[in-house]
Amino acid sequence: MVSEATRKAMQGNKRANTKPELLVRQRLREAGLLGYRLQWKVPGRPDIAWPGKKVAIMVNGCFWHRCPHCNLPLPKSNVEYWTIKFDRNVERDAKNLKALEEAGWKVHVLWECQLKKKTIDDTFEELFPILANELGKTLISRD
Ligand SMILES: [Zn+2]
Repeated sequence: MVSEATRKAMQGNKRANTKPELLVRQRLREAGLLGYRLQWKVPGRPDIAWPGKKVAIMVNGCFWHRCPHCNLPLPKSNVEYWTIKFDRNVERDAKNLKALEEAGWKVHVLWECQLKKKTIDDTFEELFPILANELGKTLISRD
């Protein structure tokens, strides 16, 4: 048996157009950072990528990818199963990240919890100048 939260998180895994992804894309559009491709075919299938510039954004669910900020507890049942599964996820994420970086990509990881109402403005305030610089684009101001 898995809990409802677990089931939801599992269903949310690796699906395109999740709510956090849509939020990121909306902010990118507003900032004028366009021209990205979705689920580009490189290690880890980055959610958002500018292949010509080798810049990528990974949008990670906190539960599934074991967010270091949230440190969410393991599901209460089948602890061993989940421990192995999560370790594998984290390992695979790290491997993909390394492969991309070795191929010259700049990768930004955004966690679901960085896209909440309280945190989203700070997240993009920090990310966008860096991103714009890497992409050689000019940011459109929000005000
Ligand atoms: Zn988190």
